[in-house]
Amino acid sequence: MPYLDHAATTPMRPEVWEAMAPFAHELFGNASGAHRYARQAKNAYEEARERAAAVLGCGAREIVFTSGGTEADNLAIKGRALREGRGGIVISQVEHEAVIEAAEFCERLGSPVYAVAVDPQGRVDPTQVSAHVNDDTAVVSVMAANNETGVIQPVREIVDAVAGRAPVHTDAVQAFNSTDVNVEALGVDMLSLSAHKFGGPKGVGLLYVRDGLSLEAVIHGGGQELGRRSGTSNVMGAVGMVVAMELAAADRTGFQRRVGEARDRFVQGLAGVATPTIEKVDVLASHAHLRFPGVRNESLLIRLDRDGLAVSVGSACASGAATVSHVLTAMGVAPEAARESLRFSFGWTNQAEDGDEAARVVLAALDR
Ligand code: PLP
Repeated sequence: MPYLDHAATTPMRPEVWEAMAPFAHELFGNASGAHRYARQAKNAYEEARERAAAVLGCGAREIVFTSGGTEADNLAIKGRALREGRGGIVISQVEHEAVIEAAEFCERLGSPVYAVAVDPQGRVDPTQVSAHVNDDTAVVSVMAANNETGVIQPVREIVDAVAGRAPVHTDAVQAFNSTDVNVEALGVDMLSLSAHKFGGPKGVGLLYVRDGLSLEAVIHGGGQELGRRSGTSNVMGAVGMVVAMELAAADRTGFQRRVGEARDRFVQGLAGVATPTIEKVDVLASHAHLRFPGVRNESLLIRLDRDGLAVSVGSACASGAATVSHVLTAMGVAPEAARESLRFSFGWTNQAEDGDEAARVVLAALDR
């Protein structure tokens, strides 16, 4: 049965685990030490940093390894707002909770926060972002692509509209598999990634921070990562992440073709019973957000799970009770329509035929 919740997490690529395994055994050293075990770990860690920088088109010193996308987003938002002494924050209404909650935390400490609205297709208007930037803005944050809908945001246009008046951060956690994530081409000052979304291990990610951009640390301790993020270096995680980055970056064209075809065949197979939430703007090759009129999404999800097909409603609160997604609400989707919608996300393990197979399973579930 195809797995269709790759946006939540994706299986680790075998080459990644192979590269990581020695760091659980003979290469176990603490990269901050002063002996041969430490040097071996440190060399591998710094090599991973250089290779990650090469994939992103930046310098090695500009990479801060973190525990994942959530921490990278927190460091970008809180790190800037705190460094600028309650500096202002401009985000969009459809950001991941890691950005929204970090901004709201800073707001409680005194930072003015503005969340820019999106159009009915979920796109941010660069002029709207620019209009809310002022001399006190410490950071602008707009995601490269949305985790629920897959909608791709005009990040380069936002950077151009802001025109250097404030640093721009983008959460590229979902975009990395299928779009060219290069910091120079995007023009951003900060960028978040999470390894487990593109075939790497869970619990490791990174924040790109443009050289010269100053951040307050949010995790204090031994001063690792040039003082920007303390904590014993996750050597095994960084080694695994960079292998996954290289494999994903080298396979983007193939991913778009294979995964995009699986997704398209899936959506076509459901024509007549489901309508795409997004139709007029660019969406990641991996994502399909569909409404099943007259069908409660949670009931369909449970039935599909019984049949072995893993999908997602997009957003659930910590208690497990599904709430209406803030992303769909921001797009003006009525609560009733939101409760009839599911996210299907394809990934590197899927083949084009998986789209047909998954559509058959969904049709059979709907029949029952
Ligand atoms: N940002 C986006 C857009 C995401 O989809 C996710 C994962 O759900 C995160 C951030 C958080 O990443 P992590 O799971 O590594 O904390």
